[in-house]
Amino acid sequence: MRFKLIFLFTIFILSCSETVPLSSKNELNFGIVIHGGAGTMNRKDMTPEKENEYRQALEESITLGYKILNEGGTSQEAVEISIRMMENSPLFNAGKGAVLTAEKTIELDAAFMNGKDLNAGAIASVKTIKNPITAAIKVMEQSPHVLLSGRGAEKFAEEKGLEIVDPSYFFTQRRINDFDKIKSIESSANVSIKESEKEFLSTQRYGTVGAVALDKHGNLAAGTSTGGMTNKKWNRIGDVPIIGAGTYANNSTCAISATGWGEFFIRNVVGHDISALMEYKNYSLEEAARIVIHDKVAALGGDGGVIGIDKNGNVVMEMNTSGMYRAHINSEGELTVEIYKN
Ligand code: ASP
Repeated sequence: MRFKLIFLFTIFILSCSETVPLSSKNELNFGIVIHGGAGTMNRKDMTPEKENEYRQALEESITLGYKILNEGGTSQEAVEISIRMMENSPLFNAGKGAVLTAEKTIELDAAFMNGKDLNAGAIASVKTIKNPITAAIKVMEQSPHVLLSGRGAEKFAEEKGLEIVDPSYFFTQRRINDFDKIKSIESSANVSIKESEKEFLSTQRYGTVGAVALDKHGNLAAGTSTGGMTNKKWNRIGDVPIIGAGTYANNSTCAISATGWGEFFIRNVVGHDISALMEYKNYSLEEAARIVIHDKVAALGGDGGVIGIDKNGNVVMEMNTSGMYRAHINSEGELTVEIYKN
């Protein structure tokens, strides 16, 4: 009888613990944040149709990454899939639809970093790799190096069987028009730059894409991909493929992807600086990102923004520009898509 009671009691306890759902507090937080570039964004230049197109693309991209995380996949897989989608969309300044250099070519930069082991890979100034983010990941996984550039990076991608395209694949009429306009402003610059032209120039730097994620295993990852800045010269390389500047991830702090005027993000080592403020000064992700974007980058005259996620799933989307295409999904599956600064 006594054994029977103990047996029944044990069954009761087991069945209770099975039916009581895990409270969300006990579950590991996970989440993903993406951006599609920061810069001067005027509501008057945006039609409802155009805004809708951006919102849809952001939602589609982040949903792909979220699905991976929700099913227990890694932050690396989530970041890669979300960025590939934006590289394939002509809306963003990454992959197809990238901006033109001063020589009317397209040169792409990308980087990826894992927070778990601080492993990273990047490529710069490539003209034929369809999805630069995948090439950056391959550099991390299958080469002894961190950053490959130009023709060497393209040969590496070919050897690894990545999709190679003719450079013409990346060109879009919209970017060709922007290029022509910049060239005509440039040639008349010594006469006078009208306010509207100045404004146009300031919208021409941005459109980069990036993603940061925390997976259910507690691992952070960050990735960024870009065509850089319109009219860039001499194989200029921006902050995106510079690990610690435009892209950084560290499981003990956060994952960061930046967008903006790259030279200032390199000089401020933005991604690593945010992480260091958290690691050495115990700042929250939000405090650290605010200091770096508003005090440090802005103080030197730079503009742009960052997205970040920390090891507990807290997120930040900070900018000192009038807008940044951005989206976030938390572990409850709640989606936010925003364009303008709040
Ligand atoms: N940071 C990029 C670069 O300077 C540009 C951007 O984010 O739009 O190359």
